[in-house]
Amino acid sequence: MLTLFQNEDSPTLTEESRFTFLCGPGMPCFNQCCQAGLIVLNPGDVLRLKRFLQVSSSEFLRRYAVRETEARSGLPLVFLRPPRGQETGCPFVSEAGCRVYEARPDACRLFPLAQGSVLTPTGLRDRLYLRQPSYCLGLAAGQEWTVADWMAAQGFDPADPRRRAWVSLLLTQALSGPATPDQQDLFYLAAYDLDNFRAFVLTSAFPAVYGFPAEALAPLADDEEALLRFALAYITATLEEDEPSLVREALREALLAEGPG
Ligand code: SF4
Ligand code: SF4
Repeated sequence: MLTLFQNEDSPTLTEESRFTFLCGPGMPCFNQCCQAGLIVLNPGDVLRLKRFLQVSSSEFLRRYAVRETEARSGLPLVFLRPPRGQETGCPFVSEAGCRVYEARPDACRLFPLAQGSVLTPTGLRDRLYLRQPSYCLGLAAGQEWTVADWMAAQGFDPADPRRRAWVSLLLTQALSGPATPDQQDLFYLAAYDLDNFRAFVLTSAFPAVYGFPAEALAPLADDEEALLRFALAYITATLEEDEPSLVREALREALLAEGPG
């Protein structure tokens, strides 16, 4: 079985599992979590953050992210860029706390929980578990939560189809061997650089290659949620099929199913 973002040593939690946790500016460990590691971004995180910061996706990626290669799939991952001169940490941490709190990434919302994924013969299976870094004093104090209540309070959707499509792509590609450089760049464009993906779809030869009339794709110009769903459907079909007629059929279904706009 292939796994991603897993910690096999931590017990699996259910939505009814309970834990205690307290966090806030009064904690002696305040902000240590935001300096201790690297925060991976999924496609929904990039979209939320670039909107919050009111920059284009390419500007966001250039200023605030670093691109790495996921070892088994060869596909690109993006992480928040640590402050200059540091190997870990987040560009948005300040003495007062998180400067992008409303738009913080899923990994930050979920902490001290984490979600890993396993690719099984019947599909993707997600697993929630508790992280217990020694620097975090919030786990030894505070109020009792159920996992479901914590996720709801933090605005984390454990079934987010965008995250699941992204993880599924990374794990599926790992089975078939490392992605080629062209596949890597296409994945980066579709999964993370949504503004450039929009231009690719609407202003390149894309409509002609896949036989779409321009008006069929026009709703994607103004609806970024629909555009991201389309982008993930596109990269999924391309990595799996790489045959224009099959990719076109998958995209047509995505347009019909999602009802962009
Ligand atoms: S309690 Fe944990 S999550 Fe909260 S500030 Fe401290 S280290 Fe970070
Ligand atoms: S985005 Fe906010 S919560 Fe997440 S690591 Fe950065 S400062 Fe901390």
